[in-house]
Amino acid sequence: MTSRHWEAHELESVTRCPYCQSGQRRIAYAAIPDRIGTTQGTWTYWECRDCRSLYVSPRPTPTTIGRAYAQYYTHDQCDERPRQGVLDRWALSVRQSYLARKFGFAKPKGSRWRWVLTNRDGIFHRCFGADWFDLCAPQHLSLPSGPALRACLENLGFAVRRRQRGAHAQSHWRACQAVRRADTRENIYIASFTGRKTAWGTFWLDGLLWLIPGWQGDLVLQCRKNMCKT
Ligand SMILES: [Zn+2]
Repeated sequence: MTSRHWEAHELESVTRCPYCQSGQRRIAYAAIPDRIGTTQGTWTYWECRDCRSLYVSPRPTPTTIGRAYAQYYTHDQCDERPRQGVLDRWALSVRQSYLARKFGFAKPKGSRWRWVLTNRDGIFHRCFGADWFDLCAPQHLSLPSGPALRACLENLGFAVRRRQRGAHAQSHWRACQAVRRADTRENIYIASFTGRKTAWGTFWLDGLLWLIPGWQGDLVLQCRKNMCKT
């Protein structure tokens, strides 16, 4: 597929915050490129002045959004990294058991959902700003603040709890550094996440995020709905 600019008729303007409907806003980032490299051009992220969520405008329409994923990085070949050494295998087993226990990957539970989104209030956005790897337009059309997303879910009748994400800080930090040095999309979105998580120099960061979960790279909300309630 040939990379090309978006035509005006392929885009739509968003004038109100998708989360709180406020029209009060400011430009947060004015020239974010398509880091996935699917199309040419840059994108504008607006910040809602009321709930601080970020959203792209103009953005692709429901009809044209497929263009943004035609060459998405999830289509890339990604070989499983061989696990070598006791510490590396131990880290993998801890992660797998953690995911199974915390997020129910092994045991789906009927009326319980877990939302895992990128966290605009996280330390990575705070530290890297425009080089935050999750400013990924036009794929990430909106990045809600934690309170805004919680309010939306609670208005839908969910009981919401915030959960810990686990040891992902090293990956997020590496991805931001890769954006800052204008590295390839493979190094930003794949190598940063499939590499070893045993860099001693960033263990302090995982420790910090356990102490301040609101600064995690991901926003993890566990939602439960009482299905018997009318
Ligand atoms: Zn808002």
